[in-house]
Amino acid sequence: RADDGADVVEESVATSDGREIEVAANVGRPEELEPAAARGADGVGLYRTEFLFLDRQSPPEEDEQYEAVRDALDTFPEGRVVVRTLDIGGDKRIPYLNLPDEENPFLGERGIRRSLDPDSDLFATQLRALLRAAADGAGELDVMFPLVATVDELEAAIAAVDDAEADLDERGVDYERPSLGVMVETPSAVFMADEFAKRVDFLSIGTNDLTQYVMAADRENERVGHLHDPTHPGVVRAIARTVEQAHEHDAWVGMCGEMAGNPDVTELLVGLGLDELSMSAVTIPDVKVAVSETEHSAARERAESALRVATRSELHETIQ
Ligand code: PEP
Ligand code: MG
Repeated sequence: RADDGADVVEESVATSDGREIEVAANVGRPEELEPAAARGADGVGLYRTEFLFLDRQSPPEEDEQYEAVRDALDTFPEGRVVVRTLDIGGDKRIPYLNLPDEENPFLGERGIRRSLDPDSDLFATQLRALLRAAADGAGELDVMFPLVATVDELEAAIAAVDDAEADLDERGVDYERPSLGVMVETPSAVFMADEFAKRVDFLSIGTNDLTQYVMAADRENERVGHLHDPTHPGVVRAIARTVEQAHEHDAWVGMCGEMAGNPDVTELLVGLGLDELSMSAVTIPDVKVAVSETEHSAARERAESALRVATRSELHETIQ
């Protein structure tokens, strides 16, 4: 039992008809790692690395980043830790980097776009730290890139991983190449999911941003909160398409947006075919129970019906 009395399911979970679903934690700070493990997380499905850059005056050195990631891998020796490369811009700001003001920050130089800035070595430093940690930490490291919209961006990010390997070879330092993934957060990523899945090992759907961009509804603006809802059929169809394309090209596909932590939609997400759900640790026990109470074949049929409805309220009726 967790401190608040929740029943913790420690082992991995499967649906009643045997389909295993990985239930992982979203982690934003190192202090959250142990509590996530205590609540039954199979691993970390989203490690937000912005914390390393916040509340300080200059970026962290490679060694500090290496240690932080190695610690995460040591906390989940049997599981996998998916680290997201630095995701700044939009709602995530870091004052000392002196980034230019943008009129539409959510449509600006966010996520991978900033990492690929040729005038910055932040991305190269982070990738070297990650590759070293992959070799030394106990668990498995996977690395994913945020806000990718084009195949060119993905190929540039993969080339940066190749460059990090070459740098470490030259230094004679141990490293391991992690599995690589793309976050599906933009409509373009949904439509290009097949091309991404051919080039990486996994996709992870970030429904917070994906909903914002599919619905054109600011994730921070309450006035459009009714539109910023991933159970709108437009978003659900985008999720379905992404899962289908990932599987067609042998990539596994997870979800790490807030939607993944809502037990009311667990059956829908299992029915749509997601392989992994990653959420804030508090919701893990409830979602594990929801998975174990789901029958995969029935969930698939319900998901198919959900893909035929026209409105959010019809969708809610279908999945009730
Ligand atoms: C998302 O956009 O769904 C996501 C998981 O990333 P963040 O909330 O950190 O933007
Ligand atoms: Mg996001």
